[in-house]
Amino acid sequence: MVSILDLEKYAKENNIPIMQKDGIEFLTQYIKKNKIKNILEIGSAIGYSAIKMALVDDSIKVTTIERDPLRYDIAVSNINKFNLNERINIILDDALNIELNDKYDLIFIDAAKSQYIKFFLKFDKNLNKGGVIVTDNLSFHGLVEDDSKTNNRNTKQLVKKIRKYIEFLKENKGYDTTFYKLGDGVAVSIKSTNIN
Ligand code: SAH
Ligand code: MG
Repeated sequence: MVSILDLEKYAKENNIPIMQKDGIEFLTQYIKKNKIKNILEIGSAIGYSAIKMALVDDSIKVTTIERDPLRYDIAVSNINKFNLNERINIILDDALNIELNDKYDLIFIDAAKSQYIKFFLKFDKNLNKGGVIVTDNLSFHGLVEDDSKTNNRNTKQLVKKIRKYIEFLKENKGYDTTFYKLGDGVAVSIKSTNIN
């Protein structure tokens, strides 16, 4: 038997960046309130958020993509332990390499921060009208608001990319985005029903 607490503990001990408590709480409440049924997740890690989302309701189906084979294996094992293998479909691949034909009510972007715009543009066609794209880690430990705390060049580059993504969301006329200062910074972008 494995519990949600076990997954949280494993993630902490192994430095796996799963969603923070208030972030995942917000996301699962959102799914419940809006009766979301079909979810696509980019970035499974060990399956924690996919499992949390699937546990909201028996009728929910999650497709989740992970490119790291080791994390994928752990996620598969965790999904099986929760008996969710019929409701969580996990794919081992780079999300930017695959083509999906299904449509989803909610797409959760929680993978490489440098690729957020690409993920958004690529999977936009897989979102139902009135659907929502949720993005995690837009604060990046507070560095997006204030990057004077780091001198690392790669980190500064990532901060730049996240700021660009935030601008992209704000200017995107096809979506209405709200930014939430919870967890590591979460954006909820609702697809407009007026435009195409
Ligand atoms: N959503 C998870 C945490 C994901 S951590 C949770 O909250 O429980 C981010 C994961 O995205 C990492 O495991 C990383 O390997 C994966 N990832 C990064 N870029 C990716 C890509 N382009 N395609 C698929 N997976 C990716
Ligand atoms: Mg995250």
